[in-house]
Amino acid sequence: MAARHAKGALVLLVVAAQACASAVPAPETNTPSDSAPPAGPLTWHVDVDAAFVVSETVCPALAVGPEQRRARDFLVSARVVDGCQEIVLDLGRAADTWQDRDSATRVAPDVVVSSPDVWLWRPMPKRSGTLTLSLPPGFNAALPFPKHGDSYDVDASTWAFASAAVFGNVSMRELPVDAATLQVVMLPGELQMVRSEVDRWLSAAATAVAAGNRGRFPFPKVVVVVDPVWGSGVPFGMVERGGGPQALLLLGAQARVDDVVDDWVAVHELSHLLMPPVGVDDAWLGEGLASYHQNVLRARAGLLSESEAWDQLRDGFDRGEEAAARGPLTQSLADASRHMRAEGRYLQVYWGGAAVVLLLDVGLRQCAGIAVDDVVASFRAEQLRVDVRRIPARAFVARAAAAAPGCAHLQYDVDEALTRPFPLVEPLLRDLGIVPASATAPLARLRRVIVAKAP
Ligand SMILES: [Zn+2]
Repeated sequence: MAARHAKGALVLLVVAAQACASAVPAPETNTPSDSAPPAGPLTWHVDVDAAFVVSETVCPALAVGPEQRRARDFLVSARVVDGCQEIVLDLGRAADTWQDRDSATRVAPDVVVSSPDVWLWRPMPKRSGTLTLSLPPGFNAALPFPKHGDSYDVDASTWAFASAAVFGNVSMRELPVDAATLQVVMLPGELQMVRSEVDRWLSAAATAVAAGNRGRFPFPKVVVVVDPVWGSGVPFGMVERGGGPQALLLLGAQARVDDVVDDWVAVHELSHLLMPPVGVDDAWLGEGLASYHQNVLRARAGLLSESEAWDQLRDGFDRGEEAAARGPLTQSLADASRHMRAEGRYLQVYWGGAAVVLLLDVGLRQCAGIAVDDVVASFRAEQLRVDVRRIPARAFVARAAAAAPGCAHLQYDVDEALTRPFPLVEPLLRDLGIVPASATAPLARLRRVIVAKAP
């Protein structure tokens, strides 16, 4: 169970990476070519050559600029030709200079990972459009955007949330999982696991996550970048949302499929996609849902037994409560969520949030006969193609409390839980027959239903 032991350190990395989703620099535009920008659909054509010099044609010739201002340092030329803006950018040199995945980095001599914030220059205000791409022989590109034929749909969310593209000599394949397609990108590196085993691992995780969304994976396409690293297990993962959903999963070179097929990291990360992004101060909800889901969804998929799922949740609650006890006595879970990144309060927030989600799940099943996943799915249904806005946690709780006339108390219950350093979860665990274990506890039937295998 290396992944479990590693979680304390890993969540830090996971959240630190997710924090980038909100780190959008101030906008800046290129020299305007016209004071009255032409209307009409926006198109980009991006040509990447073997040296990662990017030639970009933006039509019409609007004033455009990079979301990350420092990308201008690698601008080779900019001019207006035939009513379009032409930009040439030395992305390879930027990648070698920065070596930073959130901007650009070269992960192999012929593979560059780079955020569209660097290479996809946009007008202000940001506009949607379509993108076409040219690549040299032997190159592939993995982009998060929805694709139709030869063109990609670029949404303004591209520059609002973190995102990354992979260009170069990488192996790519499409892995169908139910009605969805995982675009699996293998970054260079040795692996003990063969391709079919990697597919088995990812399929198991995506199938488990689909069970949390009425049996359908929440997006028709997700880019999954697998990055081989030294070691075993799955030491790190993160999701990104700019322009479309993507996941990055580090996979240990020595990992064997039996070690990782029931691991929590891929399920945790992909389960983030069940819910649109939550408010930046509301980490308890986003991470609480994922920490809850990583266990109940694995149980429903048969990757964990029911008792293993509850043991791992209870273990998480214990660690979260211990972490909360080490913090300031007055720091509520709500405050810890606001300061999670600055103060490193990850265990408290992840597992305190999972405890609130358990409280909501049990409460909703009792007062309305629905699950917390039904509330999650209702928010996802409002943002189907790409994530365009964040959901405040209060909107989520208000919707749960309005699910049925008898659910109003959920608002109070959650508000009360958020005022404590850690929610009072012991009475619930007792009623569910988890601590102490009991088959005749008042909510024992509900306990079994929550993690019952999907039909
Ligand atoms: Zn997470």
